[in-house]
Amino acid sequence: MLSIEVQTRQRSELVDVTQRVADALRTTGLRAGALLVYVPHTTAGVTINEDADPSVRRDILMALERLVPQSLPFAHAEGNADAHVKASLMGASVTVPVQGGQLQLGTWQGIYFCEFDGPRRRRLLVQPLPEATT
Ligand code: ZN
Repeated sequence: MLSIEVQTRQRSELVDVTQRVADALRTTGLRAGALLVYVPHTTAGVTINEDADPSVRRDILMALERLVPQSLPFAHAEGNADAHVKASLMGASVTVPVQGGQLQLGTWQGIYFCEFDGPRRRRLLVQPLPEATT
């Protein structure tokens, strides 16, 4: 398993980590199977979405802000309850198929680390899942 460090710069932010995950994949030497990309945090997540137009990232953040505003009457007293909910909406992991040593992402897809309670120093864990051999 590999660990990628992600330094976030805003409270809410989608950080493109596609290249760093691809670099980590190369380091593992995995040729065929899948790569598990996992966020070991409760106020951050990971998602796959459009990589070409950066306004998609802004739209996702805007929509999450409308869905889960900080002003809701949360019980969690740390002041970051919205970040916990947004992290669960995005999810803590994605699994990407690997063939020929390459991530099998679609043409327009990228992998985004989703920060909801930054800025912080975060980690992204990358676990190769080799194809089963018979
Ligand atoms: Zn909290």
